[in-house]
Amino acid sequence: MAIRIDSLSKCFGTLQVFDNLSLGLEEGRITALLGPSGCGKTTLLNLLARILLPDSGTIEGLEGRRISYLFQEPRLLPWETAEDNIRFVLDGKMGREEGEARLDKFLGLTDLEEFRGFYPYQMSGGMRQRLAIARAFAYPSEVLLMDEPFQGLDLPRKLDLISSFVRLWAAERRTTIFVTHDVQEALVLGDEIVLFSGPPAKPREVFGNPAGISERNLENPELIELEKRLYVSLLGSGRAPLT
Ligand code: ADP
Ligand code: MG
Repeated sequence: MAIRIDSLSKCFGTLQVFDNLSLGLEEGRITALLGPSGCGKTTLLNLLARILLPDSGTIEGLEGRRISYLFQEPRLLPWETAEDNIRFVLDGKMGREEGEARLDKFLGLTDLEEFRGFYPYQMSGGMRQRLAIARAFAYPSEVLLMDEPFQGLDLPRKLDLISSFVRLWAAERRTTIFVTHDVQEALVLGDEIVLFSGPPAKPREVFGNPAGISERNLENPELIELEKRLYVSLLGSGRAPLT
């Protein structure tokens, strides 16, 4: 295991979000952490990124590594153009020529080439999030943390954005930890899907994705089968009808 979370505990006042959580995350793969709202997903990413410190326990395997963090909202610099938003994270990380080549590559892979001079306010919500994804990949990180970046979009736009993500991921794979409460997102992105309950957040079950990333679509029979298993595990079987 590349990243090892060991006996992690974290409280906010009287709320125990993690109580002795242990979990390994694999290198070079996408681990989807699937859990209900409020179970501690964002808190876990913040602990991994060292934005927050645990009360006790350790996280190993991230020391000195470059991390990209993709948030639920794009968090772009509103006063900079699309291309300058990307240049901003490349500054000081590489020479000018290499940086410009990287900028072109990632604008191209996300179909944003013709919008490179646009300011965030001139772009749609989906385009802004695509730019944020391009920026996260352009930054030469080894680890990518993603906090529900596809939320708030209708299904076709969400799937478009996920396709952009997959294109980038295929071009430059990196260890990815993706948290979401959305079963479909976990299915199409997670190589491993770890189902959480909580708080306190506990991994309840781990599912390996039977389909390779390029074969994952919502009509794939293997994914439909896995989707059923995830719903049963999330909701319990034999739930009463809604009416
Ligand atoms: P998720 O991302 O899974 O929806 P969060 O990690 O944001 O969940 O939050 C887990 C729980 O911790 C929630 O009940 C939330 O209200 C609480 N919480 C998160 N951050 C703080 C904080 N800084 N102070 C107090 N409570 C917090
Ligand atoms: Mg959250």
